[in-house]
Amino acid sequence: MRYIDRFQVHQGDKVRLKDIDPGFKDHHESHKKAADEIERDRDKLRALQARLYADGRCSLLICLQGLDAGGKDGTISHILGAMNPQGCRVTGFRQPSTEEAAHDFLWRVHQATPPRGQVAIFNRSHYEDVLVVRVHKLVPQAVWSRRYDRINDFEKELVDGNTHILKFYLHISKKEQLTRFEARLDDPMKQWKISESDYKEREFWGDYMTAYEEALSRCTTPHAPWFIIPSDHKWFRNLAIARIVVEHLEALDMKLPKPSVDLGHIRREYHAAKAG
Ligand code: AMP
Ligand code: MG
Repeated sequence: MRYIDRFQVHQGDKVRLKDIDPGFKDHHESHKKAADEIERDRDKLRALQARLYADGRCSLLICLQGLDAGGKDGTISHILGAMNPQGCRVTGFRQPSTEEAAHDFLWRVHQATPPRGQVAIFNRSHYEDVLVVRVHKLVPQAVWSRRYDRINDFEKELVDGNTHILKFYLHISKKEQLTRFEARLDDPMKQWKISESDYKEREFWGDYMTAYEEALSRCTTPHAPWFIIPSDHKWFRNLAIARIVVEHLEALDMKLPKPSVDLGHIRREYHAAKAG
């Protein structure tokens, strides 16, 4: 079964995250045994992005959501590492600035959407406005509860303008999150990432799960689907996400533009008389 079908949330599904195993790794025994497959997908991704760029008719938006230490940064390195940075842009969404907060919640997001031929990766996204905002009651329920429909309309408009949208929820267990926090404590390269608020947020785990379940259930559509990616194994998360992007892009049947000049003429004029 293609991963694009296997991990997709289908319209009408009622997501129950408790029922989904974050440690799932399909038939793969280990990272080592899957390494060749992972590399093959990265090669495919590289070639497909070059095609998207050359074809120039559509764009791709990859949206990453997950709790702290869910693996958003790691996924970005993996995906981006396989792409030409000239055709790709990453945007991280943090607490809105004063200027951003003075606008509609989609304002800052719209500006970061990809132009034709390009890939945009979102590290967090407009979904924070129905996640952290809901969990911490940053706006009244009457405000956030209307946002699901607004998000669906917004994404539909992007899709109508030839943007392809793939949204990934990186599903980790509460235990794995603590393990990763602990690892950060011991790793001088990662200590800067730790904050007390990360630990405080763990108290809201249940509220986040409820908020995610509603966002995943209400905002998955055939044109802008959500995927729930088992992410306790970092390598499996990378494998699954890259595979889904590859499967999606392969199905687009993108064409390389025809040469705009007469190649035969160029060959004759400039290359035939090498001696001269
Ligand atoms: P990080 O991804 O670790 O850099 O943290 C970014 C922080 O910004 C997270 O705690 C997010 O929950 C928070 N954030 C992102 N978008 C919003 C938003 N629209 N409103 C409030 N907080 C947000
Ligand atoms: Mg953080």
